[in-house]
Amino acid sequence: MAHIQWFEKRAPFIAAVTALQGAMAERDAAIARSTSVPGHCPACDRPTVFQVSTSATFADRPNLREGLRCEHCRLTARQRLVALAMREEIPRMPSKPAGLLLEKTTLLYRFARAKWHWLIGSEFLGPQRISGRHYWWSTHWWRWRRTRHESITAFSLANQSVDLIAHSDVLEHVHDTALAALECVRVLRPGGVMLFTIPFFIDRDHSLLRGRPLADGSIEHLETPEYHGDGMSRRGIYTFHHFGWDFMDTLRAAGFSQVEIGLCHAPDEGLTSADPMGDSTWNIPPILFRAVR
Ligand SMILES: [Zn+2]
Repeated sequence: MAHIQWFEKRAPFIAAVTALQGAMAERDAAIARSTSVPGHCPACDRPTVFQVSTSATFADRPNLREGLRCEHCRLTARQRLVALAMREEIPRMPSKPAGLLLEKTTLLYRFARAKWHWLIGSEFLGPQRISGRHYWWSTHWWRWRRTRHESITAFSLANQSVDLIAHSDVLEHVHDTALAALECVRVLRPGGVMLFTIPFFIDRDHSLLRGRPLADGSIEHLETPEYHGDGMSRRGIYTFHHFGWDFMDTLRAAGFSQVEIGLCHAPDEGLTSADPMGDSTWNIPPILFRAVR
């Protein structure tokens, strides 16, 4: 099964990605041209068929990061990479761990909760809600669910109370990421781990701030507004950031002792770059982050 390679420094990470360029261009592009590909799923750990395209696309090309859905566990490539990281990380944790996954209405939560019963799931249901409380929530009138609300900038959790925080494509929607990082450090035990994905642009030194919230609740747009589908709201959710390398310094400044970027290119296991036939900007390699308290 594939393993995630972790890098603390930019140069060796870039060297590893550069070494994969040929394979990413060839293998990933062939996958992007297919409708389904056979392989082995490292999340549910069995032979499977990956359905290449979900509804997410780059113009006429499939977004492989949001695609490559396993026919068994139904996870997409992005979710599968988080699941793989959890599979690798959790066995190293204390015997009775506590942890938080910052999603609950998703297949990733369903997968993770079936495997690790102690994991708490939550969603962000809006700034007026109280962290730790459950609310009825629906995006469609026929499908109401009761969901725990947690805000990454104000958790309900006690100081040093969890061993794991996992989130996937959350932080780009949070304006004050430094505050979010401090809050995660607060609730993690020493040695506790945060695993997460973000849209990360490996050529970018500095993160791009796309907008900022104003006192009246509206947003001042500094770039063309970008919304991501989140399954929780119909329009999607506003994107404040395109992250670059300075974000690793933000995490270190918040108190994480070790911050790493992980790479796992394994096309046979449904882990590829996002847009191998497009321009390089959005062709995000299969990467995620690990920050140790
Ligand atoms: Zn699977």
